[in-house]
Amino acid sequence: MRDLEPLPALVDNYIWFADLGDDHYLVVDPGEVAPVEAALCGRPLASLTVLLTHHHRDHIGGAAALRERWGARVVAPVDPRIATATEDIDDGDRVELPGGHRAQVIAVPGHTASHVAYLVDDVLFCGDTLFSLGCGRLFEGTPAEMAASLSRLAALPPTTRVCCGHEYTLANARFARDIEPDNAVLAEHVAWATDRRTAGLPTLPSTIGLELAANPFLRCATAAVREAVADGGVPADLDPVEVFARLRARKDRFAG
Ligand code: ZN
Ligand code: FE
Repeated sequence: MRDLEPLPALVDNYIWFADLGDDHYLVVDPGEVAPVEAALCGRPLASLTVLLTHHHRDHIGGAAALRERWGARVVAPVDPRIATATEDIDDGDRVELPGGHRAQVIAVPGHTASHVAYLVDDVLFCGDTLFSLGCGRLFEGTPAEMAASLSRLAALPPTTRVCCGHEYTLANARFARDIEPDNAVLAEHVAWATDRRTAGLPTLPSTIGLELAANPFLRCATAAVREAVADGGVPADLDPVEVFARLRARKDRFAG
């Protein structure tokens, strides 16, 4: 997979775009069509494959136009709220892509009930489940479901590149630093991300290794994060799901 690129869309979404070779292209979560057509402009097109992670409008809004105008194949989880799919997939499925690539489907309920992530080679497309230094809001799932989903992603190799659905890194950083003010990896990454955003550049893709070291939502088993949410109780008494639930609830209230 070459030229992996986040196309800025809508307010703070990224549409992920990649070259699969021989004029075959991959697009993940096209919330609108214009950035994709701009990226395709001037390139011969043999095929376009669209992967959708979940039904929210800011992730699927451009899929129908890509299907109609460019004959795109549209791969999505089984969900009546996604009307544009040409192929339904589910947890554990492997989707053959052009160029000998394949997408491995990982069910990650929590943000929405039918949310999936796709692993293509060493690249994870995780929609609104895992963000850099944060995670998605729980609209349709329980903390236990989301914690389990994040655990599956956290178990991928540390070098896995993480392609999230939004540029939320600096907003998430304010909360992460409030939880772990002494985390040196986090502090260094926030400085890097601040420079990137000042220069108008994306902070993504991240990596699983970086997120394990700096993202509080992947660090619910650490002493530092447990203590931060203990509220005067005994940190050791909190299991990781309870730590996650408290952390997510606190982030929802965080004014930053
Ligand atoms: Zn969403
Ligand atoms: Fe979103």
